[in-house]
Order: sequence, then C-alpha cells, then structure tokens
Amino acid sequence: MKSVSRRAFVATIPLAGLALSSVVRAQSAASTEQAATLFQNVRVFDGKSDALSAATNVLVRGNIIDRISSDPMPSHVASGANVIAGGGRTLMPGLIDMHWHAMLVRPTPAQLLTGDIGHLNLVAGAEATDTLLRGFTTVRDLGGPSFGLKRAIDEGILTGPRIYPSGAIITVTSGHGDFRHPFEVPRVLGGPQSRGEQTGAAMIADSPDEVRVRVREQLLLGASQIKLTAGGGVASPNSPLDASTFTEAELRAAVEAAENWGTYVTVHAYTPVSIQRAIAAGVKCIEHGHLMDEATASLIADKGIWLSTQAFPDEMADAFPAGSQERAKAFEVFAGTDRTLGLAKKYKIKTAFGTDILFSPSLAKRQGELLAKFARWYTPAESLAMATGTNAQLLALSGKRNPYPGKLGVIEQGALADLLLVDGDPIADIKLVADPAKNFVVIMKDGKIYKNRLEPSMALTGR
Ligand SMILES: [Zn+2]
Repeated sequence: MKSVSRRAFVATIPLAGLALSSVVRAQSAASTEQAATLFQNVRVFDGKSDALSAATNVLVRGNIIDRISSDPMPSHVASGANVIAGGGRTLMPGLIDMHWHAMLVRPTPAQLLTGDIGHLNLVAGAEATDTLLRGFTTVRDLGGPSFGLKRAIDEGILTGPRIYPSGAIITVTSGHGDFRHPFEVPRVLGGPQSRGEQTGAAMIADSPDEVRVRVREQLLLGASQIKLTAGGGVASPNSPLDASTFTEAELRAAVEAAENWGTYVTVHAYTPVSIQRAIAAGVKCIEHGHLMDEATASLIADKGIWLSTQAFPDEMADAFPAGSQERAKAFEVFAGTDRTLGLAKKYKIKTAFGTDILFSPSLAKRQGELLAKFARWYTPAESLAMATGTNAQLLALSGKRNPYPGKLGVIEQGALADLLLVDGDPIADIKLVADPAKNFVVIMKDGKIYKNRLEPSMALTGR
C-alpha cells in the first residue's frame, strides 16, 4: 500500500511540471495574440490631463495601445482591426480601485468565518465579474485570500479585474483583523490557527520574528505588496480606533522582509501616532488616514509617502447593528473625511483613490458613485486622474513583484490596453461613472473586449 502511494506521488511530479508549463504557455500566447481593435473618432481622457483631446483614433494591437493619431489610421497600420465607431464618445483608461477586498465584498463577517471556502470563492468570482463590468479593470486587494481568484482570472477561466494581491492582512493579537471570540483566548503559541487565519484572511503576529514569517509567507503565495494594520479599525470587535498596534520594530521587520523581496508595505492607520510610527519604520503607503492632524499631513508630504484614502458613504455603517461599537467607530471615521482630504490637498500629498467596500453587495454596486463623490474635494478631471494615472503610479511601487508589468492607468502609445468608452464627457459630468451599466458602452481589459453595447453594424462599418 505504502509503495503504491509513493509511486503515485512520484508519478504526479512530472505531470505537475507539465501542467504548470502549459499554463505559462497559454498565458503568453494570449498576451502576444495580435488581434486588433481600432477606436475611431473618440475624444481621449489620457489619465493625466484636465481636458479631453480633440477627435482621435486609437489602435490597440494585442494587449497594447499601439498607435494614437488625430489623422485617419493608414489602412496598412490598421489592417485586420475590428473597428469601433466612437461617434465622439470619450475613451479613458480603465478605473483602478486601490483599496479593495475581492474576497470580502459579498459575504457577511459571519459567513466569512463560518462559511464553506469553495462557496466563498465562487461568490467572489461572481463579484469579480461584476467589478470588471463596472469599469474597474484593476484592483489592489488589501486583505483576503485572493490568490486563487487572481490566478483564475489571469488564466481566462473567469472574467474579472487585474488583482494586485496582498494575501492575508497581518495584525497583532487584539488588533484590527483579529476576529477571534473571547473563548478562543489565550492563543497557545505554536497551537492551531484561528478560523480567520485558516482561511488566509488575516494572520496574527506578535513579535518581529513572527511578523517576518507571516510577511514571507504572503510573498511566497504571490503577494504584490504587504498589508499590516498599524492601528485600530472599525469592523473588528476588539480593536479601539485610538489603539496603536505593532511596535516600530515589528513594523520594521515587515518592511525589511518586503523590501528584500523588492516590494513595499502599506498599513491601515487612522491616527497620528500609528501613521507616524509606520513612516518611521519605512512604510511607503498609509491606508485611510481619516483621523490625521496637520503635523502628520506635513510629515506624509515631506517623506513622499502615499495616502490611499476613501470617501466612505454613511450607508457603510449599515453593516453593523444599531448601537454597536463598530457603528459608532464608523461614524467617527466618516467625520474625518473632510479634514483629511483638505489636508491632503493643502500639503499636496500623493493621494490614491479607493473604496474599501466590505460585506455589502449593495454598496459594491455603488463603487463608481464613490469615485464621483471625490468631486466634492477635487475637480472631476483630478478625481478621474486619481483613479487612473495616479493610482497606477502607486501600483508600480510593487517593482519586480508587479504581476502586470507595463503601463496601466494611461492612454499612451505602449501602455496596456485597459480602456472604457464612455457615452458622454465624464470631465463635464463625472456622475457618468456612477452608472457604468448605462454609460460605459465598451469595456476592454488587456486588449480584450468584455462589453460592447454599440450596435454590431456600427462597430463593423465605422463612421
Ligand atoms: Zn480595507
């Protein structure tokens, strides 16, 4: 019996090798495929500027923006291209959400901790498809076991956005992300993991050495950046907002492990103390920052640290029962949005846009609306640039761990072809992005069209 199973095991090794290499071949074949699409007569928002271009033609070949020209595209250049008659509509880069949790959008916290993993993965897959069809062609996933989902999307098994995964959120005992119940305390060091850890949603680490292990595990699994919680959070039951969690030495251990791997650490942090400590430890990006003060804003700006923040809608608190601590904490954070975005503007902090929608399928439908909401603080063009070209600059901090090397978030020659054709001018009316089903008539990711609502005859004949 023993020898049979050993033989079977040995026999599977070369097969596993074969399967892997065929996956790699399939991916490279898809990316070098030279199918072409010509967007004719579009006005371009390039992901950086404050105005649309004049009427332009954009040729996509394979997964790359091959040529942009205000003159008609010569027939030998555009030969074989599928023509999309833009009719003066706006062509813009696909949207990027810098704070997303692909695995945590639809389930409730209880379902996440008690549910069947296979079911949770399928639910996340359905959400990923909807995410792409809202025009979000890339998400930076800041916590949750999204590696398998990312792989399935990249392999073409499932429709969804590009995912920059962090893997498990790394937290301390009692920190934001420690979802254990009182009966699960004390933890036996070296003992079985809590349910949250088993699912890969969050890992608990209470010393620099433990932090190094947990960070390196996420890197092994394919994390493009590392996420720690440096202070208290809204959704965790045992985590006061004012709490600072990791010590500077613990944070520095994470930074060293990530930087040795060529990437960076971002931290969840609301308060001045947690933000300042993270910066002292070498952290490159702050998530949220809603309770920061003037001195902290000045420090973030001086050190060139990124702020990845959100304009949370009040309805986000509906995930928590009336009268609960979580609900009270949510409103304390929401009240800081105005001040934080004011400071971000005043100190010219490098600011990224994200939504951090959790545990709410209904809020997920409003992902684009949360971008439109930024027009309360920024011009529409600035808001759109934040969600495209600027966000892509932060994605590039992943360095060699960037899973999608190439330029994202911009429309320029040589950039990756993630594109939206918008029925109207989103700089004149940013609310267009709040209704993607109606207003995003074409959605392209990596040169492939996932939605085309234009009449087929129109798409074929051009104008
Ligand atoms: Zn989050």
